[in-house]
Amino acid sequence: MKKLTPILLFLFTILFACNNTTEAKKVKNIILLIGDGMSVNQIYATELYSNIIHNKGLAMNNMAVKSFMTTHSANNYTTCSSAAITAMACGYKTNNGVLCKDTSLTIQYETIAEKLKRKGYRIGIISSVYLNHATPAGFYAHQNSRKYYYEIGKELPASKFNYFGGGGIRYPRGNTGDSANIFDQAKATGYKISKTHSEFNSITKADTMLISINPEVYRYGDFYWSIDKRKGALSLADFTKQALNQLNNENGFFLMVEGGKIDWACHKNDAASCIHEMLDFDKAVGEAITFYNQYPDETIVIVLGDHETGGMSLGTNENVLLGNIQLQLLENQKISTQEFDRLLQNVVSEYKQPTFNQVMDSVSKYFGFNNGNNTLTLNTDETEWLNEAFQTQVLKGLIATDYDYLFTNNKSFTARVIHILNQKAGIGWTTNDHTPMPIPVRVTGIGHEYFKPYIDNTELAGIIEQILY
Ligand SMILES: [Zn+2]
Repeated sequence: MKKLTPILLFLFTILFACNNTTEAKKVKNIILLIGDGMSVNQIYATELYSNIIHNKGLAMNNMAVKSFMTTHSANNYTTCSSAAITAMACGYKTNNGVLCKDTSLTIQYETIAEKLKRKGYRIGIISSVYLNHATPAGFYAHQNSRKYYYEIGKELPASKFNYFGGGGIRYPRGNTGDSANIFDQAKATGYKISKTHSEFNSITKADTMLISINPEVYRYGDFYWSIDKRKGALSLADFTKQALNQLNNENGFFLMVEGGKIDWACHKNDAASCIHEMLDFDKAVGEAITFYNQYPDETIVIVLGDHETGGMSLGTNENVLLGNIQLQLLENQKISTQEFDRLLQNVVSEYKQPTFNQVMDSVSKYFGFNNGNNTLTLNTDETEWLNEAFQTQVLKGLIATDYDYLFTNNKSFTARVIHILNQKAGIGWTTNDHTPMPIPVRVTGIGHEYFKPYIDNTELAGIIEQILY
């Protein structure tokens, strides 16, 4: 027994030391990055593309996959973004379409961001789509429907979160434009609002209540497409960097960054636009990792999706004929489907009755078809298929441009152009909607061990609470 005593003392010392270490390494800063619609194949396609075209991988691929996460909602194997974010941010399943309320629409759930706000953390919310869209809204709003944009928007300043950045607010004066302006409400609550480049550049650390909106957005407040490379447009990474600077303080912070248009591109089954949105999102991940490297003992970075969109896959019958996956072909696409539709509209209005060849000149210019690359030379069947859509859609002026992102027409001229390019590159799609595929969860930082190999989306908020308290 006497001999055992020193050994026991030694073991107690180690145990005590371990406990102390755990105490000392509690996480203060949590950065959650959500690729909307992003699962394994969106990531792998982007990784391959980046390796081929840019000769480098992704920042997120340096992070360990700690879990796979299920995504089903209360009433469907396939979730929508509002039910997904309710599960992730609040810890409860709800029905598709509902935002941070229960299935009977009687209980409002407190979100993880609201809980942390109560505890003294600074809170930041960033998205590349409008800030009252489902995913960013899922951290501050509670509504029977994700479509109640104005009601959701009114909850934004009421949250008193410290930083909102990226996209604008859809319908700030309500659907009919005659309600009280949400931006006025925000100013009255104490928010500084930045909407120009000079305002963006003049933000200081003292601006602790800030709504920082990208000057370069579509009319509802979503970013222009990354693939279109608008000159001077601010990126998701720019806002992530700004937010990290604003939020960093001795009491800690929670920052959520959403790459929202990954999902929108996948709804369109547009692989090249998806990959460009993914690359943009990955740069925001890079900013988070840079911050982590400065504060490795206080910070955790979590990268995941909310659901998969499109049933995206790699490997098509067409690409088997061509001998291999050829993702480099996607580099030929220089334009988003939305902007190509606008270009088609302009061609129609310029030429009144354009010929098929005049339209195909634009197809060659922006997608690389029939430009001397044998792989991208269209055969007779493909040409006839496009000509059919030209006759039935383009010539009749039936081209939609600023449509809702959920509007899809797979028979449209542009959808067919995209389909042919994707097939040759080796990208397939099963749907224009979401799928129930599980999502990889990447984690770097203190507290990563709290992530089990397989989790449900309702477990995420609880894991974050365990790490932070
Ligand atoms: Zn979606």
